[in-house]
Amino acid sequence: MLPSDLLVKATTADKTVRALTAVTTALVDEARGRHQTAPTASAALGRALTAGLLLGAMLREDEKLSLQFLGNGPLRGILVDANAQGEVRGFVYHPRTHLPIRRGKLDVGGAVGAGTLTVIRTQPWAKEPYRSILPIVSGEIGSDIAHYLLNSEQIPSAVSLGVFVQPDETVAAAGGFVVQVMPGVSTETIAQLEANVAQARPVSQLVREGATPQEILTHVLDGFGPTVVAELPVRFTCRCNRERVLGVLVALGRAEVADLLVTEGQVTVTCEFCGKQYTVERTELETLFPA
Ligand SMILES: [Zn+2]
Repeated sequence: MLPSDLLVKATTADKTVRALTAVTTALVDEARGRHQTAPTASAALGRALTAGLLLGAMLREDEKLSLQFLGNGPLRGILVDANAQGEVRGFVYHPRTHLPIRRGKLDVGGAVGAGTLTVIRTQPWAKEPYRSILPIVSGEIGSDIAHYLLNSEQIPSAVSLGVFVQPDETVAAAGGFVVQVMPGVSTETIAQLEANVAQARPVSQLVREGATPQEILTHVLDGFGPTVVAELPVRFTCRCNRERVLGVLVALGRAEVADLLVTEGQVTVTCEFCGKQYTVERTELETLFPA
């Protein structure tokens, strides 16, 4: 049996190295099913969802984070929302994107293309969300997240994300890790970490072989005797609901909604993030816009 979706946070004894590892197979396959993504799109979405969870787990309890990849590749864009409770949701603009295999791998970089990565951190105590806009480095997601962590958060980080898609399009394995060094880290530690990361097999392969987040950790922090400081179950969660959908219709305005009604007799609204459909009948719509 494959390990269940879980995220693990760990540090070394001297606390100069922090690592987060995650297995996300079930939630990435759930996203694949919800959005009917083709293999390259599934890999892109799965890596971004996993990245969202790893970054989300670094936040304070009440912070939220959004990742927006906007590129000139056929996928056009990826949107992911995550929080510090292990909840994530996301979608891609063109879910049926699939490209020829490149160097034995799904070509996520080609699907994303060149463009921008925007990371938005929403902090309840701040007036405005904190927004970082960076050029996309490779579109492979992992290197883009490492670039963000170094340039916007000033934390040198190694990021690895992987998704393995079966010929029948289901997701057989997904996961990732982030390793970060804190101020005061020794050059020996950095050299050892670089060797560990270079030697580690692809994370999708480790998860496919049944590795748990704790086992991924033993590869990444080999020789450091890491201490696990937290374990967090992770899942695909969307907080959309009927009230919010009705709120959107009210915001659209009477004329716009009346147009939709004339053509359909009812209005169907689909949540972009989770694919859930809400059908609103004429009688219910009339109560939204009392004469
Ligand atoms: Zn939703």
